[in-house]
Amino acid sequence: MTRIAFIGLGNMGGGMAANLVKAGHEVHAFDLSSEALARAQENGCQTYTSVREAVQGAQAVVSMLPNGEIVESVYSADVIGHAPRSALLLDCSTIDVATARKVEEAARAAGYEMVDAPVSGGIAAANGGTLTFMVGGSEAAFAKAEPILAAMGKAVIHAGASGAGQAAKICNNMILGATMIATCEAFALADKLGLDLQTFFDISSKASGQSWSITAYCPVPGVGPQSPADNGYQGGFAAALMLKDLKLAMEAAKAAGAMVPMGQRAQELYEAFAAAGNGAVDFSGIIKTL
Ligand code: NAD
Repeated sequence: MTRIAFIGLGNMGGGMAANLVKAGHEVHAFDLSSEALARAQENGCQTYTSVREAVQGAQAVVSMLPNGEIVESVYSADVIGHAPRSALLLDCSTIDVATARKVEEAARAAGYEMVDAPVSGGIAAANGGTLTFMVGGSEAAFAKAEPILAAMGKAVIHAGASGAGQAAKICNNMILGATMIATCEAFALADKLGLDLQTFFDISSKASGQSWSITAYCPVPGVGPQSPADNGYQGGFAAALMLKDLKLAMEAAKAAGAMVPMGQRAQELYEAFAAAGNGAVDFSGIIKTL
């Protein structure tokens, strides 16, 4: 059993903290939201009224927060210098690579080991303990992080040095954003050309156009496996979150001097989709605009 402080018990963090409890860890939880804290308590976490209290005596600190600005402020104000120096720090939020590296450097300078460990998989995977973790950090830090993350996921992969987890996450989601739009436009065109869409699925899922967006998440209702398309594009992965990840990818590409024309176009299309009031709609719902 490890004493783990858990910060950020929202849609994702709530289920992740509950899975740490189920795995036998002692979880000391904090969130700004009293509802989130009440749910965490029902799930067996001990709850606290500040980050500083929650990290007292912790052997590990896990965070699942909305963005890089919040991650940086929580770690610099209330974790670094307040958690024991021996505590392993794991940030599972999706944030920009530069901030992830900056926070890790500050933690390392103060004597801590820290990993960035963003996740693939949505709320269902967080609740079910089937997330995929992409981890950035030293070999030694990864070895310590792995058993903790394994209690919340089905795969834990060492992506490389600090920031590599975030880099892998945004590159993966840039593929996903662009391929989902490509899938949507191809199915919309197939329809206009008079193809039966189930037949086109049967072909494209076995031909060279095949992708996860087709075989696991087909954006056409009634075609392919069960997906948010079969549920009015509710649930799943919100367009606003896809847009967040594409913006992070564009920032990283700019900083690295990389050309990303497909990612750029995907970002523009999701920006317009979200601005039209579809931020909460599943990202495959963009098919309705094509
Ligand atoms: P959420 O908004 O549901 O949860 C974030 C939680 O952080 C909230 O409960 C909020 O009260 C809390 N919080 C905010 N500021 C805080 C602070 N200073 N101190 C303590 N708690 C604070 O968001 P989510 O959907 O759980 O996403 C969390 C992270 O996971 C994000 O970085 C997101 O990009 C990433 N992510 C989400 C999904 C998804 O499908 N929802 C999938 C993969 C990755």
